[in-house]
Amino acid sequence: MRASGLLAFSIVVASLGAAACAQTVAYEGGRLIIGDGSAPIENGTFVVRNGTITAIGREISVPAGATRGSLAGKTVMPAMINVHVHIGYEKYLSWGAQNYSAENVLDHLQREAFYGVAVTQSVGSSPLDQSLQFQRDQKAGKFPQASRFLFIPGYAPPNGGPDEVLREATNALHVINEVSTAQEARASIQKMATKGIKAVKIWVDDRRGAYPKMTPEVYNAIIAEAHKHGMMVHAHATTLEDQKAVVGAGADVLVHLVQNERLDDEYLALLKQKKPYWATVITLGDPTAVCDHDPFFEQALPDVVIAKIRATMERRPLTPSCGPPSANAATREAILAYNFPRMVAAGARVVLGTDTGVHPGHTFGSGEHVELARWVQLGLTPSQAITAATKRPAELLGLKDMGTLAVGKRADFIVLDANPLEDIHNTRKISSVYLDGVKFDREGLVARWKKANAGH
Ligand SMILES: [Zn+2]
Repeated sequence: MRASGLLAFSIVVASLGAAACAQTVAYEGGRLIIGDGSAPIENGTFVVRNGTITAIGREISVPAGATRGSLAGKTVMPAMINVHVHIGYEKYLSWGAQNYSAENVLDHLQREAFYGVAVTQSVGSSPLDQSLQFQRDQKAGKFPQASRFLFIPGYAPPNGGPDEVLREATNALHVINEVSTAQEARASIQKMATKGIKAVKIWVDDRRGAYPKMTPEVYNAIIAEAHKHGMMVHAHATTLEDQKAVVGAGADVLVHLVQNERLDDEYLALLKQKKPYWATVITLGDPTAVCDHDPFFEQALPDVVIAKIRATMERRPLTPSCGPPSANAATREAILAYNFPRMVAAGARVVLGTDTGVHPGHTFGSGEHVELARWVQLGLTPSQAITAATKRPAELLGLKDMGTLAVGKRADFIVLDANPLEDIHNTRKISSVYLDGVKFDREGLVARWKKANAGH
C-alpha cells in the first residue's frame, strides 16, 4: 500500500483541523432542522466549540470572542448516517478485490462526506483486520477528513451469501464468515465479540435457488449468540417467507424490500410486535439522474463511467443503464407502493441504507439523496425522511453524540441553499458540509475528480 505519502499529508491536515475547531463559532440566522421530527427553528443560531454544539435556539447569547458565521437564507440539517454500503472495491475504471486498500476506502468515505454523510457503515464485505486497523487509524486522526468508517462482518453458508459480483471480490479477500452448523456459528460470534464487533450481517437468501440457503438452525444460533454479547444482527432477506422467518427469529435490522409479493397480515402483525429497523435499499441501480445529465450525480463520476452508463441499454439488476424500463418494472413498483407504507405503519423503523459499492458503476454519497426522495414519494413526510437518515441511524448504531442538532452533539451538519421540508430534493442543494465543526473541502474534491478525468 502506498501509505507513506498519504499519511504524511494527513498529519498536516489533522493538525489544521484541530486548530480550526479549538475556537468557538456561532452560526446565525438560518433555518435549523433538528433531525428529530420537531418543527424547524426559523432564524435560529447554534454555537460550536471544539467540534461540539454547545447552544442552539432562537434567542441564545453568543459567547464573547466567538467567530460569527451567517446562515442567512440557508437551511441546516444534521449530516446523514448510512448504515448499509459496500466499500473498497469500486475504482470507477475497474472494480474488485485488487482495488481494496486503505487509500481506496478513504476515497469512498470522502465521497460520502462530500454528499453530506458523516458516518458510513460497510456491511458484510469488509476484511476484518484491515477494517479494525482503518478504524483505529481514522480515530487517531491519521487520515484527512472523511465520513466515519464503520463495518460489520457477514455470515453465509459455504458458497452462499452476496450476489456473484460481490461474492467474487469478497472471496478473494476471504471476507465472508462461512458457517454451516450452530456450533460453528456460536464460536465465530464469540470471536467477533472479543474483537469489539457490535453487529453482524446474515445472508438468508438462496438467490432464487442458485445458492445454498442459511438454515434456521444456523441463523437462530447466530442471533441468540449475538444478542448474548449485546450485538445486533442485520438480515438480508428479500422474500416474504424469509423476512417473516428472520424477524420472528429476532433479527434487529432488515435489509432490502420484499419485491415480488404483497405483504400479508401475519407479517404485519409480526412487525407490530418486533419493530425491526429497516434499511430499505430501494434506489441502487436507479441511473435516471445520470441518464438525465444531472450534475449533482455526474460531478463525482469519471466521464468514461457516465458514457458507459448512457450506452448501456439492457436492464440488469444492479447494473446502471439508460435503457427502457424492464418488463416487470411496473409490477415491482406497484408492489413497492403497496408494501412500503404498510411496513412503516406496522412499525418497521426506516433507516438510511443504499447498498452503494455492491456492483460497479455507482457513486458513493449521491444515492442517499435518491433514497430520501423515494421514501417521500412512497409516503413519508420530508421531516420523517430526514429523521430516518439522521437521528434513527445514529440510535441504531449507538452513536449517542450524533444524529441531531442539539447541545452535546458533534457539529456534523449540512448547509443547504433551499428547504428540504418543502421539497426533499433540496437536500441536493448543498452549500457546505461540516464534520466535527470543520468545513469539509468539497471544492478540493471536485478539483481532484476533474483532474483525474482529464487524465483519461
Ligand atoms: Zn448490501
